Amino acid sequence: MLQDDCDIKTKFMTTSDLIIIGAGPGGYETAVEAAKAGLTVTLIEAKHLGGTCLNEGCIPTKCLAHSAEHLREEKDTLDLTKVVEHKNKIVKQLVDGIAMLMKTPGISLVEGEARFVDAHTIRVGNEEYQAKDLIIATGSVSKFLPIEGAHSAGVVTSTEILNLTTAPSRLCIIGGGVIGLEFASIFNQFGSEVTVVEFCKEVLPNLDKDMAKRLRLSLKKKGINILTDSGVKRIEHLENDVSKVVYENKGKEGIVEADVVLMAVGRTARTEIVEDNTIGITYGKRGIEVDENMQTSVPHIYAIGDVNGLCQLAHAATFQGRRALNHILGRKDNIRFDLIPSAVFTSPQLASVGLREEDVTEHKPLVYKSFYRANGRALSMDADEGFLKIVCNEEGRVLGVHIMGEQASELIHEATVLMNLGGTISQLGDIIHAHPTLSEMYRAAVS
Ligand code: FAD
Repeated sequence: MLQDDCDIKTKFMTTSDLIIIGAGPGGYETAVEAAKAGLTVTLIEAKHLGGTCLNEGCIPTKCLAHSAEHLREEKDTLDLTKVVEHKNKIVKQLVDGIAMLMKTPGISLVEGEARFVDAHTIRVGNEEYQAKDLIIATGSVSKFLPIEGAHSAGVVTSTEILNLTTAPSRLCIIGGGVIGLEFASIFNQFGSEVTVVEFCKEVLPNLDKDMAKRLRLSLKKKGINILTDSGVKRIEHLENDVSKVVYENKGKEGIVEADVVLMAVGRTARTEIVEDNTIGITYGKRGIEVDENMQTSVPHIYAIGDVNGLCQLAHAATFQGRRALNHILGRKDNIRFDLIPSAVFTSPQLASVGLREEDVTEHKPLVYKSFYRANGRALSMDADEGFLKIVCNEEGRVLGVHIMGEQASELIHEATVLMNLGGTISQLGDIIHAHPTLSEMYRAAVS
């Protein structure tokens, strides 16, 4: 139908050097870099500039996390409407900033849903756009468990929960991954009774085991009920607007009743743009398949960010975009995709870069640790919970760093720089750190 319509109604054909589909942190940042490098770029966005990250992900959750921390520290009363208004203001400010960036000479922003016509042509509405190279940066969407009641009233995703104007008295979160635990921590501080139901034996299965366990114990201490090894079987929506989450733990059935159920079981690549095409882009369950240059099976078409399923983080999307662009321009880079730092904005925070202790299998790793409770700055900040752990190979080369505690998300970058430069534990020990700072924990771990 659309195909026939468009054959008749297509009015314009715009050509540029590069078409980018999706204006999240992958797409919009790459568009700006490409324009600065002298390319003409058509950037197509269906919903909102900034993508998931700015509108429904990183930034809004961190606004809520900050308000929740503030509430706890100041023992303030919660006005969630004001919190949401503040969050919306920050999001708007950042989205307006991107709108300004889109005025960079060389970028044409097109609003609408992109569809492939052929391997060099994209249609948006009645118009067509052609380019030599294309980058797909269409991101991801929330997953739902394939169970009865998954879409019933009372079940929300991370997008809807951001705009609740009253904190539910009972919140059940399905999934103890990063998104699930961030919301658990936020709503615990907002005063909700929070239960997390996690299928795996431990929360955050992709993070350092030691750290994940300690975070779970810490969140439990704060009153969050965490049920691990528990698979949700069905969700029933009762007449009084209460949801009943039925799960199974070691063969036994259990029930969690909640006013709101958050489905936080991960995100799935948004691949529909290639699913009905005949241009031969290969994709699988994780997303569009790419090589180390983010090239798909059709060499002039690249896929970056959540849509390729390699690493669902905003900065990964941005740097994958940079790699793709460098490849298009024939430029070399030294981006290390094995050293992508990540942070979990729970209270306390977690942060990681590189290998986990359990990933080092060919020899026994050297492990160095220090603790917040022995750090003067941490004590002065009333933040004595947590630790910093450095994993090294036999020669002392730093392979991974994992931090739980105050400002972990900032502290991780010292390790990221060191590891990018191939640094060793003895070099780290010789680096002077200002006193009194949390960063001294690096030095303390070495000595
Ligand atoms: P997206 O940001 O998803 O952008 C894709 C864009 O493509 C969207 O705007 C979409 O409308 C558009 N699009 C899709 N299909 C089409 C089409 N056919 N035509 C035109 N446009 C299209 N990451 C972090 O690094 N740190 C965090 O703290 C963090 N917190 C998060 C919290 C939550 C609740 C969520 C959900 C995610 C969080 N993430 C975080 C993950 C982060 O948001 C994503 O990794 C990041 O947004 C991926 O960027 P992207 O450019 O690949 O895709």
